[in-house]
Amino acid sequence: MIKVKSVNKQSLIDFEDSLFMLVESVDKFDSGKALYVDAIIVNSSNPEDYNRIFKAVRTHYDPDVYLTPIFAVAYKTLPYLQENACDGITDLAKYEQLAKRVRDIKENMGQLYLQQQYANSEEGYLYKLLQFLFTRDTSFAPIPSRHSRVNYYFPLLSDLLNDADDHTAMDILDAGIKKGYLSEGKMFDKVHLCDNCGSAHHNLRETCKNCGSVDLEIRDLVHHFKCAYVGPETDFIQEHSDDLMCPKCHKILRHIGNDYDKPSHIYVCNTCDDPFQDPGFTYHCMDCRDSKDIHHLNEHRIKNLYLTTKGKYLVLNGLPKKIEKKSGLATDVLGIYDLGIFQSLLKQEQARCTVTEGSSVLGEVHLTDPGMNVLSRREMQILQGELSMTLKTYLNEFEMVTSVNPYCYYFLLINPDDERIEKIKDVIEYNIQNLIKSNVDKSEIEVEVDMKPISEIGEDFEF
Ligand SMILES: [Zn+2]
Ligand SMILES: [Zn+2]
Ligand SMILES: [Zn+2]
Repeated sequence: MIKVKSVNKQSLIDFEDSLFMLVESVDKFDSGKALYVDAIIVNSSNPEDYNRIFKAVRTHYDPDVYLTPIFAVAYKTLPYLQENACDGITDLAKYEQLAKRVRDIKENMGQLYLQQQYANSEEGYLYKLLQFLFTRDTSFAPIPSRHSRVNYYFPLLSDLLNDADDHTAMDILDAGIKKGYLSEGKMFDKVHLCDNCGSAHHNLRETCKNCGSVDLEIRDLVHHFKCAYVGPETDFIQEHSDDLMCPKCHKILRHIGNDYDKPSHIYVCNTCDDPFQDPGFTYHCMDCRDSKDIHHLNEHRIKNLYLTTKGKYLVLNGLPKKIEKKSGLATDVLGIYDLGIFQSLLKQEQARCTVTEGSSVLGEVHLTDPGMNVLSRREMQILQGELSMTLKTYLNEFEMVTSVNPYCYYFLLINPDDERIEKIKDVIEYNIQNLIKSNVDKSEIEVEVDMKPISEIGEDFEF
């Protein structure tokens, strides 16, 4: 049953167990009220209304507000951007689809770790984006926008940033990829940004390499077969006749194809009269009015992005806490080491592999389990110790394990073959799941094991 009531001049629609706020006038819109509803429906065909609502909702400090689903009423005139930046469209008659989408998003929101503090605003923006992607369970897709300084709207990020900072959005996305929270999907466009101000709004022009003027004319080149003379068509034009006459042999050119042809064209500069075949190309920035050779434009690739397991792990568990001095690691056992020692041994093994063409592999184990969050510190330490001991039992005597925190473990396999890699991966996933299920009440454990050849691990790898 649909019930419509009005609270604070904002219509509310109650469908099954979802409460929608219907926004018809942006002037009365108060983003804080989103706390009390499950989703917002915008009934407007004016793109500006959507932009204001996106901005108000997405910049709110409370995740229950900034992650609120926003739907659009399907107007034919609603631009592509606004329609696609919403969580879906509706015709104000059928609510089943919407209610289902809202339930899915709300359920995902319920699983998020409540992160309160960020080292800086960029880290905060990236973190919010990862939360957004997790709750929507979709890939990240930049949307073309003629109103953006870089020609693209980046969902959530563009609302958090000012227009002039749109290139910051690309830096934030690059940081997310570098840290392994986002993976790259299909590359579908490129933008070329002004070297001086980062804008993508510029005119490209053919330019005289001699004097820098853009006042050029294109003229056909004429090639007279008989005498092999080649020159601009203007050389052949006569003052008192429409016939073309060769300036070298003074014959009249009659039939194109038989007497002569036009093999290409030539530029002539109206400022310095220089003729040339290849002009330079310059850009004129519409924002800062800078003018430079196009080689100075900075190319950025526009692509779809996906939330990785590591990114999902982050939003479910929060940003890494400082590594605790007193970990539960049983470092008196041979092959179990503190992170610092493990990192040194890994570097040494990398050097050894380079010389001996070894194929050693770094294993990465991530756990996500809301049930683990209620354990005491002491219980966490015990679990961390148990898990690292368990991991060590699958390794050879000369292989090693470390743990960054109770949710994250690394191990090193020396020259394993593919069969062993697969087998260890399966065994670890299966056994760690069981171990946690039998130790943690109401466990919803998920175990992810990634294997990476250590030759692919760079200097800046973050543990
Ligand atoms: Zn010139
Ligand atoms: Zn001729
Ligand atoms: Zn510029």
